[in-house]
Amino acid sequence: MNSLFLRRLTLILVGVVVILLFGIAVKAVVIKFQRPINDEPTQIVEVENEPDNEPEVTDNSESPDMNENNEVEVEVETEIEEEPVPVVPPGNEIETETENEVEPEVVVTPEIEQEPLYYENTSFFMESRMDRYKTYAQNNPSFSAAEVVLKVNMNLDYDFYTHIVEIEVPDDLLVLCNKFNQLPSDFTPKNLEEVPIEYHVSDGKVYDLDRDALNAFIEMSNHAKEEGISLKIISAYRSNEFQAYLYNKYNTNNGEKNADRYSARPGHSEHETGLAIDINDVSQAFEDTKAFAWLQENAHDYGYILRYPKNMEMITGYMYEPWHYRYVGTETATIIKSEKLTFDAYYAMYILPGNNR
Ligand SMILES: [Zn+2]
Repeated sequence: MNSLFLRRLTLILVGVVVILLFGIAVKAVVIKFQRPINDEPTQIVEVENEPDNEPEVTDNSESPDMNENNEVEVEVETEIEEEPVPVVPPGNEIETETENEVEPEVVVTPEIEQEPLYYENTSFFMESRMDRYKTYAQNNPSFSAAEVVLKVNMNLDYDFYTHIVEIEVPDDLLVLCNKFNQLPSDFTPKNLEEVPIEYHVSDGKVYDLDRDALNAFIEMSNHAKEEGISLKIISAYRSNEFQAYLYNKYNTNNGEKNADRYSARPGHSEHETGLAIDINDVSQAFEDTKAFAWLQENAHDYGYILRYPKNMEMITGYMYEPWHYRYVGTETATIIKSEKLTFDAYYAMYILPGNNR
């Protein structure tokens, strides 16, 4: 019994010792393996903590270890930067290439769908003229939507003296009488008054003018006279018959194409409204006079505008006429002067029935 017990006890003790030794051996092995594993993170940690060491690195630029670490960092950063760099350009190239290839198609199809919205956003859009906007835009692809709307509103998609409309309210102060808008042949202004002799040239003729236009001219002429400027009417109201006589004379002498540049066909002359005057000298030389310079500065204060400005023939239908002035009232004249508009444009923008204003 005792010998058996002792043998078992010794076996147990030996087994315990063996287990303990094995455990120690395993721990030793584990520690051996952990050390290199722990060493690696410490190196990584050192790399991560490099920002703190950077000043030292710059100071001790000779230390190869830190330089190597810097190089590692640079390599990592450049790798990260380089990756997107080669990816992005091909992506862009592909996109731009596809955009360029698609552009012609994209330009054509969306425009047709977007144009109506674009026109409606312009200030002077008229729903009733949508078809004309589209046609004019197709014929003039370089024009913006705003340009298209304004020019179509001025009927510039039509040839002069076509699509003529008879003026409904010819006695209106802001009546537009041009190559698209014709006064009734039997129209005579209601408030014509004879121009006092001292306010028109001395040629023995009688001049009539709208009362308000005449009063404004008298005031303007008086103020100009105080500054040494002489302003005298050389043409005022004309009847339809007299305008027909004048135009036919110019047409016969110079041909229709030339006559149309400086003379209106009957029913189309502003002089028939009683609101237009020619001042001092019906010639281009009038532009070089002090009277013209004075008018340029002051006419709007009396409600007069230069009706056919220089380089506006495509809009007005008439060559530059430095002598021809139209009475529109001071408010409108001031807007036209400050915004450098023709009356045709002003009308298309602010008066034309059906616009958004
Ligand atoms: Zn005139």
